[in-house]
Amino acid sequence: MDIINILPDSVANQIAAGEVVDRPAGAVKELLENAMDAGATQIDLVVKDAGRTLIQVVDNGSGMSDSDARVCFERHATSKIHRADDLFAIHTMGFRGEALASIAAIAQVELRTRLHDNELGTTVVIEGSHIVSQQPTACPTGTSLSVKNLFFNVPARRNFLKKDSVELSHIEEVFRRVSLIHYDLGFTFTCNGKTLYDLKAGTLLQRIAGLYGNAYKERMYAVEEETDLVKIRGFVSRPEFSRRTRGEQYLFVNGRYIKHPALSAAVEKAYGDLLPDHCYPSYFIGLKVDPSRIDVNIHPTKTEVKFVDEHALFAILRSAVKRSLGQFSLATELSFDTPEEFNIAPAPKDYMPPQPKISYNPGYNPFRASGSQTRMKLEKPDYPEFPESDVVSQSQPKPEKIQPATNTCFQVQNRYIVTPLSSGLAVIDQQRAHERVLYDRLRSSQPSAASSQTLLFPVQCMFSAADAEMLGELLPDLKQYGFEIASLNQTTFVVTATPADLKDADLQPMLEQLLCDYKGSTMQKFNDRNKSLCTSLARQMAVKAGTVLEQEQMQQLVADLFACPMADTSPSGKKIITIVKPEELLK
Ligand code: ADP
Ligand code: MG
Repeated sequence: MDIINILPDSVANQIAAGEVVDRPAGAVKELLENAMDAGATQIDLVVKDAGRTLIQVVDNGSGMSDSDARVCFERHATSKIHRADDLFAIHTMGFRGEALASIAAIAQVELRTRLHDNELGTTVVIEGSHIVSQQPTACPTGTSLSVKNLFFNVPARRNFLKKDSVELSHIEEVFRRVSLIHYDLGFTFTCNGKTLYDLKAGTLLQRIAGLYGNAYKERMYAVEEETDLVKIRGFVSRPEFSRRTRGEQYLFVNGRYIKHPALSAAVEKAYGDLLPDHCYPSYFIGLKVDPSRIDVNIHPTKTEVKFVDEHALFAILRSAVKRSLGQFSLATELSFDTPEEFNIAPAPKDYMPPQPKISYNPGYNPFRASGSQTRMKLEKPDYPEFPESDVVSQSQPKPEKIQPATNTCFQVQNRYIVTPLSSGLAVIDQQRAHERVLYDRLRSSQPSAASSQTLLFPVQCMFSAADAEMLGELLPDLKQYGFEIASLNQTTFVVTATPADLKDADLQPMLEQLLCDYKGSTMQKFNDRNKSLCTSLARQMAVKAGTVLEQEQMQQLVADLFACPMADTSPSGKKIITIVKPEELLK
């Protein structure tokens, strides 16, 4: 008995859709790319309910003929390649002719399109791969494609979608990746009737500012390089504006966003030790290479790319970034133009170096019995004894047995606080300890005057439209922690008070980091927004490893730490205290 069937196209398309359009952001990417391939100069993206109910892309590109408007939904329908050879010289974003077929298989699609030379356009309605209607229509030239009720016929996929905020942040990321490198085109992004971005055609730097806020204009150095292999144009962040997360790192090749760990490493390597520990630069770098030097045998929805000349590209990119950093900051220039040697200025001619001073004790007589006392005076400190029975388990310090506030503390490597306890010697990570203390304080804070400090000079901060919107939503939470922030206009806020623990932090980057962490945590589906905000704030406010602490500061921190119910782990789950037990000390 024969058992093999050929799947109907509609089923095959649905299966393919699983790869091309795994979530609303996937459809957004395909539609934006089609609009660019059609030569549009203005592209408008509209979404409702994070793309669940509507994704619409309107462009002023070439438009399609009446019959192309139907055929474009067929599998392998593409105008972009004709022969297999074409695959080696692809200059368009799409080429597999799969996107529209896939999208039409899993949504209700309405296509309106008109060629420039035609008086009338055409409207095609297609649902689950079946054409419902086609009619002549009066419409502007170009194309408008609306995708309604994505996954209407694939409940499993629909149920698999995340919260709106998560899906929307994926869409936003797609919009950023596309609009960043196509800065010569105009883009708008409207979400639930509100325009989040209105980006005019301009330069890359203007585009960066349009997406991330005007403050970015002052934070970037330009990178430019042109060799036979590659043309590089872009911007990298000044080292002092690096971030604690790898947020804004964008590499593009021939107008396409890519992920390439080796090339990203090349950029980071160029910074050398200009970056503070655990900080990462932001960068927006476009490369142009001959398409035949890229491996095309890669999936178009994936962002991985292979280069024939990877090693050379690595070296060129690194030196281009290095040169840019050096050119703009004298310190760097010195540090990499001078080979590894000490540069000691010659002494002036008549200069006599001073005699080294030796201090000694004139009353010291080695033959006198008491002499050894004068030489080495070791005071027995007044530490509590540790009774044999009092050894508590390593990870569970018990607050009630500890009187650390009265104990002497000392700092090791400006990073750990060491203090004796009745149960042994506690080695405390100062930064994590402080994070824990601040976190608990923030979490428990009822709005109280004590926890807030009014700024002498209010500070203005500017954000991208989307960040501003998010910050606006978080204002009530932030008020509870002691911030007083008011919105001045769509993108500008003025801060008049901050939590008292937030000494004189630079507010713009700190709020940006807060938003970045918050976005990151919603994407990793931490549902508790309070928790996410407090973790970010505590991390930013905490004393860092490397900070020298005074005796009282250490004692206070240790006392505060042991008053926390979860003194042994930091808010992000890292170990704070290690106790060296008496028997280990004996050894
Ligand atoms: P691909 O982009 O890989 O060719 P798609 O399924 O995305 O495949 O699109 C199929 C074809 O439909 C394209 O090759 C193009 O000819 C046409 N097309 C799609 N979107 C547009 C648009 N916005 N404007 C003009 N033509 C379009
Ligand atoms: Mg396409």
